[in-house]
This record gives sequence, C-alpha cells and structure tokens, in this order.
Amino acid sequence: MKITLLGTGDAIGTPKIGCKCPACLDALRGGRSRRTRFSVLLESDDDEGRVLVDTSPDLRWQLLKKDISHVDGVVWTHAHYDHYAGFGDFHRVQSHVDVYALKNTMDYILNYLYFLNPVRHDVCAYESFEIAGMQFTMFLVNHPTTETSGVVVTNGRKKLVITSDTNLDIPEKSLELMKDADLLLADAIMPPGYNIPKHMNAEEAVALANRVGAKDLRLTHLAHLYPPHEIALKKWPLGHDMMEIVL
Ligand SMILES: [Zn+2]
Ligand SMILES: [Zn+2]
Ligand SMILES: [Zn+2]
Repeated sequence: MKITLLGTGDAIGTPKIGCKCPACLDALRGGRSRRTRFSVLLESDDDEGRVLVDTSPDLRWQLLKKDISHVDGVVWTHAHYDHYAGFGDFHRVQSHVDVYALKNTMDYILNYLYFLNPVRHDVCAYESFEIAGMQFTMFLVNHPTTETSGVVVTNGRKKLVITSDTNLDIPEKSLELMKDADLLLADAIMPPGYNIPKHMNAEEAVALANRVGAKDLRLTHLAHLYPPHEIALKKWPLGHDMMEIVL
C-alpha cells in the first residue's frame, strides 16, 4: 500500500498565525516546517482503492495537490476539529461518501456536519472491517477526554499502525494489536521537555515504537515548537507534508 502524509501538523498548523519562531519562519519561506492539519491517504497496491484517515480542515488543498477527487472511504479517529472539519468541502466533490468511525465519534461529527449525507458505518473497536481490499481495525487510545481510536491497516502482507492523538498510556489490549508494525505513524506533538496530558512528545513516541516493536517510525501531528524541519530531522524521524511511503 502507498501511504501519503497529507498533513503532519497539530491543530494550530505551522506556521502558527502571528508566530515568528524559527520553525514558523521556515514554514513562511516554504520550507518543510510548513505543516497542514492531520490527514493520511492510503492507496491499495493495485491502485484499486483509496481511503482517507481523518479529514483535515486543510483537506481541500491536500487533495488538490494530489489531484484526487474520489475516495472509497473515510475513517475518522476522533471528533476533534482538526481531524474532521475539511469533510464538508470534500462532500461537495463526491457525495454519499462511505464514512467509518466508532459510534460516539460518528454521532458528534455527523451532528456538526448535519447538512451532509454521507453513508454511515459505525464500527466497533477491535473488530476488523474492509475498505478497498485493505483491512482496518480501530483500537482505543488515550486522548482525554475525547473517545479516540488508533487504526491498524493491513493488506495481507504489511502492517501500518496510526496512533491518532494519544498520550503514552494506551490500553494493553491496544498495545497488543499494535505489535510488529512495518510502519508506525505516531503522534509526537512536541519535542522532549514538553508534557501535555493529551499527547506524546517525541521521546515518548520513540519509546512507544520500541515497546511495540515497530520496524519503522514516523512522527506526525507536530507543533511549531520543534526546531526547523531539516534540523529537527537529525534528531527525530519527523514526517513532512506530502511524504510518501510504500509498504
Ligand atoms: Zn489532533
Ligand atoms: Zn512558531
Ligand atoms: Zn485530538
């Protein structure tokens, strides 16, 4: 499967409006510190299908850049604005989109998007479902106080794990499911030294990757508080917008 990190920023995005820190200046100059909000595009091996994990408020620009006007499904990890709010723009391009999420997450998002009419698929944590030849399993993480799920995606040969937004205190049952990923995409909103109860910092995300035996790791959902991308990259395996990884 091909994975494209459409957006690797936190809810604020980089540059942060009005900020002149080194990362924001790099972003304003067009450097890789520029980060739109979170979504991930998954494309199946034979190009038979595409799935979006989360629909960033920046989704319109992300899909314009990828020249994509059709997906086979949208998976929502949780009901925070930066993970679903771009869906409204997209629904005018492709109507009756198949959307997948845990029930409470779905209720909240579809209440906000009450003027749209996607095809609703409520899913249960730890139960697999298929979209476009790829198997998905949602698992509970810990992102107080919002119901939030990470996602395991397999194509029968390779395994991708996306943590979504979470702190390090992930339920044991989920850690079991996350084991031996070929690629782990992990929330690492800030560099070490910062602690915010809803997210992991880079050090914690690396510790998680080691704990679950991930073969490869990319950090995402990144705030402007990192050094500029090329400098930060020497220390941490940061993703960047439009990065493509083939599993
Ligand atoms: Zn978020
Ligand atoms: Zn800044
Ligand atoms: Zn969140």
